[in-house]
Amino acid sequence: MNGLASTALALWREDLRDFGGYRSARSDALCGEVWLNANESPTASAADAGGVLRRYPDPQPHPLRDALAGLYGVAASQLLATRGSDEGIDLLLRAFCAPGQGAIVIAPPVFGMYAVCAKLHGARVVEIPACDTAVGWHSDLDAMAEAALRERATLVFVCNPGNPTGEAIANGEIEHLAQRLRGKSLVVVDAAYGEFAGADDGIRPLAENDNLVVLRTLSKAHALAGARIGSVIAAAQLIDMLKRCQAPYPLAQPAVQAALAALAPEALARTRDAVGQVRRERERLHALLADAPGVRRVYPSQGNFLLARFADAQAAFDVLLGAGVVVRDMRATPGLDDALRISIGTPAQNDRVLAALACLAEAA
Ligand SMILES: *Cc1c(COP(=O)(O)O)cnc(C)c1O
Repeated sequence: MNGLASTALALWREDLRDFGGYRSARSDALCGEVWLNANESPTASAADAGGVLRRYPDPQPHPLRDALAGLYGVAASQLLATRGSDEGIDLLLRAFCAPGQGAIVIAPPVFGMYAVCAKLHGARVVEIPACDTAVGWHSDLDAMAEAALRERATLVFVCNPGNPTGEAIANGEIEHLAQRLRGKSLVVVDAAYGEFAGADDGIRPLAENDNLVVLRTLSKAHALAGARIGSVIAAAQLIDMLKRCQAPYPLAQPAVQAALAALAPEALARTRDAVGQVRRERERLHALLADAPGVRRVYPSQGNFLLARFADAQAAFDVLLGAGVVVRDMRATPGLDDALRISIGTPAQNDRVLAALACLAEAA
């Protein structure tokens, strides 16, 4: 894919062909001692003892971009740091869907931001519902490919591992989808929960497929949801295009500092331990929940959450809330009108979930 991002070039919005984006005070590589080119304050804020916040931040700080690229095993030129992966989704919509004309393909039930960004941008949302099978949820990638070709959708979103389904899709299937859509659509693999999956190697197929885009985030496994740091990983040419669509200074300085600290070796080791505990707790909670009275079904999950169906989801939600435990009510989602999504907590928190649901059995 090096240099040969033919799909991105073919799909880049016609009306943006010559669009360079905003030229900020940080765009030109100038050297100087007295910086008077960005209307910044000459003195520091009382709230900013170190004086580091007086200046506009670097749009793509090299140390951060290098650290993220190292983490995901790609070249820095293949990675754009974003304000959470939510911004990555929005940038893809803006760059590759003509407003009021474009279309995307999704497989609900799925993360809501794809449809939200599409609606805000006036893009059509083509839904190919995932199948609820005996072994868990299954996205029909063949049907998604057909829909993309038929509807001329430029973006196909594949959430892997799936939120809220917990589904894991094999790399081979995603590669096959990308090959089928080469030159026609970008396949966007949202790997927000990749670290919790059995094998976190979703980046590998990028090398041979210029229409594959991978989204990663520090919000989940790296425990930095509040810092809002995500990554778009794709062919370098596509990354350059997205950068032109991005806000001038997307990454706040304190967020960059927090991300860099979280990517230091000792912090990464701690993250690996924490992810290991979540995975072990996921399997423990899965087994105990599946046997709990009032629970109809618990789906296998490769994420840091479990999706479960209940005989009386309202009663389950209420009994959990009564015990001080807030879970995600999924009942407004088509096909999930008896379901709750429970994030994996600490062992003590998970025990609290189980204890509360045991009360439900007594009440019934
Ligand atoms: C949580 C989540 C995100 C959001 O990530 P941010 O980096 O916090 O914006 C993206 N995709 C999926 C599937 C998620 O569940």
